[in-house]
Amino acid sequence: MSGAYWQPEIETMAPAALRELQAARLRETIARAMQSPFYGECYGRLGLAPESIRTVDDVRRLPFTTKEDLRGHYPYGFLTVPPQETVRLHCSSGTTGNPTVIFHDRHDLDSWANLVARSMYCAGVRDSDVFQNICGYGLFTGGLGFQYGAEKLGALTIPAGAGNSRRQIKLMQDFGTSAIHAIPSYLPRLFDEFQALGLHPAEDTKLRIILTGAEPHSEETRQRLQEMFRCKVFNSFGLSEMNGPGVAFECDCRNGLHLWEDCFILEIVDPETLEPMPDGERGELVLTTLDRRAMPILRYRTRDLTSILPGPCPCGRTHRRIDRITGRSDDMFIVKGCNVFPIQVEKILMKIPEIGSDWLIVLDTVGDNDELLLKVEISPAHFTGDMEALERVRRRIIHEVRDEVLVSPHVQLLEPGALPKSEGKAQRVQDLRKKS
Ligand code: ADP
Ligand code: ZN
Repeated sequence: MSGAYWQPEIETMAPAALRELQAARLRETIARAMQSPFYGECYGRLGLAPESIRTVDDVRRLPFTTKEDLRGHYPYGFLTVPPQETVRLHCSSGTTGNPTVIFHDRHDLDSWANLVARSMYCAGVRDSDVFQNICGYGLFTGGLGFQYGAEKLGALTIPAGAGNSRRQIKLMQDFGTSAIHAIPSYLPRLFDEFQALGLHPAEDTKLRIILTGAEPHSEETRQRLQEMFRCKVFNSFGLSEMNGPGVAFECDCRNGLHLWEDCFILEIVDPETLEPMPDGERGELVLTTLDRRAMPILRYRTRDLTSILPGPCPCGRTHRRIDRITGRSDDMFIVKGCNVFPIQVEKILMKIPEIGSDWLIVLDTVGDNDELLLKVEISPAHFTGDMEALERVRRRIIHEVRDEVLVSPHVQLLEPGALPKSEGKAQRVQDLRKKS
């Protein structure tokens, strides 16, 4: 099967042909979506018909779909078929109100697995690799999403699940793991465990490729992970509403993520005016599914902030690339009148070698004022009791963060492992402020 997931007839399709394909698939998707209670009512009311779509740009005539729409029509309002015709669902945590649930039929699962296989191949994973998937299985789409994709690619796949670093390392050594997928906040912890065992991934395993994603992380984090593990780290993007992993993926050039435009329509809009943004300018990513049957979603406002990278990619793939996601519009917090994204702090910390695997922003009210406290773990190698060196690190963080976000933080340096760990995505901001 080697080579089957390099799909040049699709991946290097001439842009004009790709737009034609998208327009045809958009018409089919609208016709299908109208079978669902939500879009049936909505498009019916607006008098929208599939035939009125001439080019893919006509997608802009459709209304946006939001997470609130999905929640408000929970659980079956977006289904185009009876629930019995679907074969799997994934849903989000739903900490507030209804969760969002996405249903897939057999075709959808097959199409998704194909996209993940194509993405993994694009990052250099081959059927000769042993692929260990180090993330939560179950409702989180990173588990089964990568599992089925890697199996389709033909790699021996180890469904290792999240956590238990010692066991992960044993699996990697026993079965010759050469590629892994894990979220960025977990990878430094895995590396610490290698060190605690007196091992190095580059010397004591066959690891050559790391796929990571699911959480905002900066280029500085990639550099740091590459230096730690001494192998290539690739960024991967997806969200449950658009299947999960396999929406956009880096190729070997690692200058942006190819978004698979045969299966999704890509738009970047200004989050305030909802008008399209020019290429190269950051805005909110809006996506439309083009190959999903049970539950198509059109013009979904992801709230993720990115831009379209102009120009062709040297790899020859014609599907446009998006820049690294810097977070969701709702990740932003305001402290002392300044707008701050957690990734601004992360970028600074990841350049400081003494910083360890974890950090947390705590917002609190002291007296009548907001306070920004940064709790930062020191790396095991630098946790030596040299108080002067640590004081220099503390001052460096204060200065660099103040220059970047215009708020002077309090900084608490902690011993390795001091912050609470979760098996899933890291929570980077804790807001304890009194709401007035
Ligand atoms: P949840 O919404 O509960 O986090 P998902 O697994 O659907 O569940 O998460 C998808 C979201 O994760 C995306 O909308 C985006 O905010 C974030 N995400 C996924 N991949 C990346 C990535 N490579 N870089 C930054 N953020 C990412
Ligand atoms: Zn490329």
